[in-house]
Amino acid sequence: MPDTADPEPVQTLLHAPMKAVLVPLDQVPDPVFAQQTMGPGIALEPLEAQLFSPCDGEIVHLARTRHALTLKTDQGCDLLIHLGLDTVDLEGEGITVHVAPGTRVRRGDLLWDFDADLLACRALSLMTPLIVTSSDQWRCELSNDTRPGSVIERGAPLMTLIALSAGTPAGVVEGGNSEYREQVTLALAAGLHARPAARLRGIARQHGCTIVLEHGEHQADAASLTALLGLSLRQGDTLAVIARGTNAAAALGEAAALLTTPEAAEDDPAHDELSEEASTTVPAGDDTTCHGLVASPGLAVGPLVRLAHARLEVDEDREESAEEVGSQLQAAIRALNDTLVTDIEQARAEGRREEADILEAHQAWLDDPALLGESLGHIQAGRSAAFAWREVLEQRIAELRQSQSQLLAARADDLRDLQTRLVTLLAPEAAVAGQLDMAPGAIVVAEEITPSQLLALDQVAPAGLCLAGGGTTSHVALLARARGLPCLAAMGAGVMEIMGRHDGATAILDAQKGALTFRPGPEQLDAVREQVEQARVRAIVERRMAHEPARTQDSVPIEVCANVAGVEESRAAFEAGADGIGLLRSEFIFMARHEAPDHDTQREIYQQVLDSMGSHPVIIRTLDVGADKQLNYLALPAVPNPALGTRGIRLMTRHQDLLDVQLRALLSVTPLERLHIMVPMVTEAAELVAVRERIETLALEMNLEKRPALGAMIEVPAAALCADQLARVADFLSIGTNDLTQYTLAMDREDPDLAGRADVLHPAVLRLIDMTVKGAAGRQCPVGVCGAAAGDQQAWAALVALGVEELSVEPARVAAIKAGIRKLDRAALSRQLRAWLDEPIDSATLRQRLEQWLNEYASTSITTTDRGASRDAI
Ligand code: PEP
Ligand code: MG
Repeated sequence: MPDTADPEPVQTLLHAPMKAVLVPLDQVPDPVFAQQTMGPGIALEPLEAQLFSPCDGEIVHLARTRHALTLKTDQGCDLLIHLGLDTVDLEGEGITVHVAPGTRVRRGDLLWDFDADLLACRALSLMTPLIVTSSDQWRCELSNDTRPGSVIERGAPLMTLIALSAGTPAGVVEGGNSEYREQVTLALAAGLHARPAARLRGIARQHGCTIVLEHGEHQADAASLTALLGLSLRQGDTLAVIARGTNAAAALGEAAALLTTPEAAEDDPAHDELSEEASTTVPAGDDTTCHGLVASPGLAVGPLVRLAHARLEVDEDREESAEEVGSQLQAAIRALNDTLVTDIEQARAEGRREEADILEAHQAWLDDPALLGESLGHIQAGRSAAFAWREVLEQRIAELRQSQSQLLAARADDLRDLQTRLVTLLAPEAAVAGQLDMAPGAIVVAEEITPSQLLALDQVAPAGLCLAGGGTTSHVALLARARGLPCLAAMGAGVMEIMGRHDGATAILDAQKGALTFRPGPEQLDAVREQVEQARVRAIVERRMAHEPARTQDSVPIEVCANVAGVEESRAAFEAGADGIGLLRSEFIFMARHEAPDHDTQREIYQQVLDSMGSHPVIIRTLDVGADKQLNYLALPAVPNPALGTRGIRLMTRHQDLLDVQLRALLSVTPLERLHIMVPMVTEAAELVAVRERIETLALEMNLEKRPALGAMIEVPAAALCADQLARVADFLSIGTNDLTQYTLAMDREDPDLAGRADVLHPAVLRLIDMTVKGAAGRQCPVGVCGAAAGDQQAWAALVALGVEELSVEPARVAAIKAGIRKLDRAALSRQLRAWLDEPIDSATLRQRLEQWLNEYASTSITTTDRGASRDAI
């Protein structure tokens, strides 16, 4: 029988944020407030020039012009505080704000100082409305002794917010001027998984409004990640997006764009998973072999070590009052959030993008009001804070594990991480097992492993990782790939049982074929050890030569540069021997933030990248967003075909302010001779000319004597066909083979079904590359390649044969590609390639022939991973 007793409604008392005269909303001379379009509340006529927080909570939105903010109370009610009327026109003049979006505030913390005289003279009124914008979930009652027209002292009880009953659908009120609804079809290949869910929540918070997804009979508030994931939305599902509150229209546009735009492959763990899920079934194992999905490729030999799952032993019952224990839990959540904020900033500053994204997802889980609410429920029932949190998370972990979606199941590790970290904060003695105690070079076997545990494993340098659970798209898999740590996932519970019989014995982890072999025979072991050793030695030899310039057998110099996303990767590129940075994708500096990085932040990062590269050149690409790359804070209109829409330089010319900040930051670095600016998605010379003119204007304003080189990306067939024209206005050209292939073959680079056919070795793409090289020849305009083809096992050689002078690859590929170049007779391959291309040939055949030719004539096999000399793994 369901429990029908009505629980006590949640209440929050608001205290007067300043000494003021109370004014009923209907007397405010602004119909938006007077008619309660945004929600109910009260207005204050200030009697002092400072405004303080009326309760504990978090700032979730701050107007650019600083005159209004939204405070989310700790209980989840959104409160808009609007300093004065028509103060937006002051553009922040006379207003000093002491908080920013994301700031946690306590009651009585200073929010604003303002120049009362200036505001009184220049704005319509100083009257300051306090509005409950989440009025679909909350109502407000004025405190007993607050009468309209009376003076209230700062800190005196002002009004009480009372949560409406649970039966009221969250965030949805039919009608109402500020509610917007749109029907959308989910485009995300992996359905609604944690990362886009966290972004959705970010959009709601940024606009200070409520976003609800409605699918069939089910609804989920974007404030709750678990509720969103609980909808189990899949690609192609039709759902309603409902936005309500201050900036509901803008929020709805961004939310709809997010849900209807496919994610970038590198952003989307699901991309890998879907393709692998479709094609990979895990064969059953026996007592000698266990199979799993390849979460991170490689080969390793080493002793098996079991990583025990940390049991969290906590006291079940609380000793203090429910209020005290509830506060302890909220304080621990805040403390963990602060740690996460610091870790995220550090990871971003150091270019550890995967790690930062994962920690951000953890932050979003931690902020889930549903998790807090349920834990408080356990505490009310007499449980300790640590017990309550452990139980609530355990329940969610079990639900995720049972989910039909492998992608959601993979998120269980993240919740386990949050469970462990918070419980350990509340009860440091709780974790009684799971410590790392092993020699380097082990193959670690675990039922599950959290991202934090994997990071901690770095200390013991394991050779490989085998997981009973997890998946190829889990954050653990991402981290393993970033480290080049061979890893198999989803091996099934059986692996632990078989492992129990072989603990400590030597095993072979083949994370190419997806197999873990227990107790291999001596011959098998010798053969694999030899392979590992050969690859290790080859990598060492290649690395020794990595810092030397590479020339082909017939003495053609080829620069091998690196593609990077930030400072840490550029340091790695320098250490790997890169001759420069061939592509810094600056959009990664703009992603996963609530607003665009300002001039100083950008300049600092660009300068650090230049500094990290010694005397080598650095190509920084201007912001390339649109289509598969989205920014939360840049609302792009939803268009039917974003890949053919306003993106790259087309978009930046519409956001001249963004472009200007970036160009100024770039022009501020030294020395400018080493900086090369590159423009993405160019279709005609006029676009590059316009950017050059803008650089000229800014450089004059900044009194600069020097100008950086300016280049264009060749990513669309139009640019390749007009390369001769572009070469006249550009200092260099760089071919983006990822997009060039997509646009030439009309095959979406995100579509897993076409992944096998969207091959750069298609003769049409190679002809366009050939045209580009020929078009630029004689114009002193060098041509490089920064798309994935530059590091592709066979395609790199075809590019060199066509006359490309520079290849820009992942830092880990630099040494191997240089080694390949040194063995290549460019002229011979060029003749052969042109002969092949004269025949009717498809990309698969060409690939085969290239592989054979390289094996025969260049006797090179390029290693794909490079884990360092100290580990017995490749
Ligand atoms: C490309 O298109 O090849 C390229 C390098 O740009 P991106 O992959 O960032 O779109
Ligand atoms: Mg591109």
